[in-house]
Amino acid sequence: PSLFSELPRYQIDSVFALIADYIADTHPEKVSLGPGVYRDDQGAPWPLNVVEKVEKQLFEKNDAGRHEYLTIAGDGTFLELARDLCFGFGEGTPEEEKLKLKIASVQTISGTGANHMGALFLSKYLKPARVWISDPTWMNHHTIWELQGVERRTYPYYHAEKRAFDFEGMMATLEEQAEKNDVILLHACAHNPTGLDPTKEQWKAIADLCERKGLFPFFDSAYQGFASGNLTEDSWSVQYFLRNKPNMEMCLAQSFSKNFGLYGQRVGAFHLVSNEPSSELRESIKVNLCHLIRGEYSMAPRGGSTIVKTVLLDEQLKKEWQNDLTIMSDRIKVMRKALYDELQRLGTPGTWEHLVTQIGMFSYTGLTAAQCHALRGKHHVYMLDSGRASITGLTSENVVYVARAFDDVVR
Ligand code: PMP
Repeated sequence: PSLFSELPRYQIDSVFALIADYIADTHPEKVSLGPGVYRDDQGAPWPLNVVEKVEKQLFEKNDAGRHEYLTIAGDGTFLELARDLCFGFGEGTPEEEKLKLKIASVQTISGTGANHMGALFLSKYLKPARVWISDPTWMNHHTIWELQGVERRTYPYYHAEKRAFDFEGMMATLEEQAEKNDVILLHACAHNPTGLDPTKEQWKAIADLCERKGLFPFFDSAYQGFASGNLTEDSWSVQYFLRNKPNMEMCLAQSFSKNFGLYGQRVGAFHLVSNEPSSELRESIKVNLCHLIRGEYSMAPRGGSTIVKTVLLDEQLKKEWQNDLTIMSDRIKVMRKALYDELQRLGTPGTWEHLVTQIGMFSYTGLTAAQCHALRGKHHVYMLDSGRASITGLTSENVVYVARAFDDVVR
């Protein structure tokens, strides 16, 4: 027998299995509501207008250095722009400059890599007894922390009956069971998979709780600007914590996959916020992160981050990006409403307001696993058994078909 015949049998993220089943399905009306990738109203991938424009410019520039290595920490200009975007820096006031001194940033292999570098760094140097992860969450949070050998605990997030964010459940659990230096994973906006976020008042209470109990907030920001269309609004939680809890240390994993449509280019950053505005401490944190990066992937890729940097450096291009963000977020809102309207028209049993009030790419529909199976088997509509539907898979053409399919399986 092989040395490897006793390997554990992992079920790799169910969304990839779902994609394979969808591809194998030959039904002409099949619909994919599985993966979290933006699709246009024809159901096709949509390179952002501004990205296409910049790609062309970069190609014409024919820069001989375009395939050189980045430094281990990544592209410094990109990192500053990325930091300014998520933490909301603009005017460069003395106060802002002081805040910047607290933040050590490195470039990562997109949001996944940022989550991983954060977990790796914290497991080595903070040594938390446990990490608190929302129930439910993006499944990779579990894998990433499991691989670091940190005990994973979940806090309630979704109230199934009310189809709402379970604020009371979350707070009570953390209040009773979380301990000093525990890491708490928070989705900066557009919680995946529920599409339900805390209100501003609730965020303030979460920040107070973290401060009082000495928890270490770990923000995962994968949808800034993509969720509401507004870059500041989608980063409100992060900016509130940074500005209102000066003594609290925290970190943030930042992805540019969705808001720039650069999924396969792997553009992201990890930012660690200390409580000291000290360039020495910042440098020391950065050097330690670089030590880990060097041993893992040497440095992040260059192509995608050059595109993002070029856009963020130029006010006009930034406006064009904002326009693209509006196009994507508006289309999602329109599709949410279209599905809702059609279910109302059909008189489908149950309440469906959550389809329109949830935000971001996903809707937690409330369909059961059995109903999701029926959707696939009978109607060729593919979504995860959890009932999460990726709204971007809806188009003006297929939304009526999908609504009829929902109607059929819930009756
Ligand atoms: N965090 C969350 C919550 C996500 O939904 C995603 C994307 N599915 C990511 C992180 C990271 O994705 P990527 O590695 O493509 O940036």
